[in-house]
Amino acid sequence: MKHLLEVVNLQTAFQSEKSEIIAVDEISFTLNAGETLGIVGESGCGKSITSLSIIGLLGKKGRVKKGNIYFDNEDLAQTSESDFRKIRGNQISMIFQEPMTSLNPVFTIGNQMIEGIKLHMKLSTKEARSYAIEMLEKVRIPRAEEVMKEYPHVLSGGMRQRVVIAMALACKPKLLIADEPTTALDVTIQAQILELMRNLKEESETAIMFITHDLGVIAEMADKVIVMYAGQIVEEADVFTLFKNPKHPYTQGLMASIPHIEYEEEERLSSIPGTVPTPQNMPKGCRFHTRCPYVTEQCKQERPDLFQINDTHKSRCWLVKTEKHNKE
Ligand code: SF4
Ligand code: MG
Repeated sequence: MKHLLEVVNLQTAFQSEKSEIIAVDEISFTLNAGETLGIVGESGCGKSITSLSIIGLLGKKGRVKKGNIYFDNEDLAQTSESDFRKIRGNQISMIFQEPMTSLNPVFTIGNQMIEGIKLHMKLSTKEARSYAIEMLEKVRIPRAEEVMKEYPHVLSGGMRQRVVIAMALACKPKLLIADEPTTALDVTIQAQILELMRNLKEESETAIMFITHDLGVIAEMADKVIVMYAGQIVEEADVFTLFKNPKHPYTQGLMASIPHIEYEEEERLSSIPGTVPTPQNMPKGCRFHTRCPYVTEQCKQERPDLFQINDTHKSRCWLVKTEKHNKE
């Protein structure tokens, strides 16, 4: 099967005052139509930079330094800004954590939705208007006709994010990138938005890249998962395998920090000590070795590859290699 999205050895760099910083280092993954890929990791691990590389929004200081981003027969790593403008919002849409990133405060909801729809779908103003209302109703916005007349600041955060989802899905994108779309919302609204996204996905063949630091959200949303650490993929698996049999000590650490309602407050918060190293201070050997409970001398010296455990499971850890070796 041909993949909708195929990222091959992506390396993304940023120019700082003194030097070039590698923020994403040799990332490869694939995504098919109708599939949801979860990308998880702490902040600063390269999740957002990966998605901004795909959608061509790295800004002036960032660039794809190496690798390919094949999307629908086109290499987005080689695409010009003017071609990107045709792809963005049409074939690839993005939802950010803060809905105001995608909304213009000086236009009404109706105005901006109609403009976007007209631009990408070649409908008349009247057709675009009724389609916009239909989309708002789809994301369960009550009084959709009234909301069309409102300015974004009048709406609650949850309502604004629904509007952004309606806008993102209006042009039936092949790929939807959602970067922490529910992080700023309270839990009840978060659950509603996640359910909404799941339903909308079932209706269409939209592929979703779901970026979050929250493994609980991953469990609900993803078919397959990439765990990122310090700009690299450290583990990759289908969602069932990842939760049942996490192999990388970093993934195991993330799992241990998922809050469980049934535990007492003190018991549940075993977050991973230390912080993600910065690109300027990347440790030698395994990038996780400064925080890993299983670190060995080899880990401090030699960089592990992303070792294949089976067809769908990979882990960037020497333990996997040793375990395999002992079995053989
Ligand atoms: Fe820990 Fe070593 Fe595995 Fe890195 S390679 S995660 S330091 S055991
Ligand atoms: Mg981010």
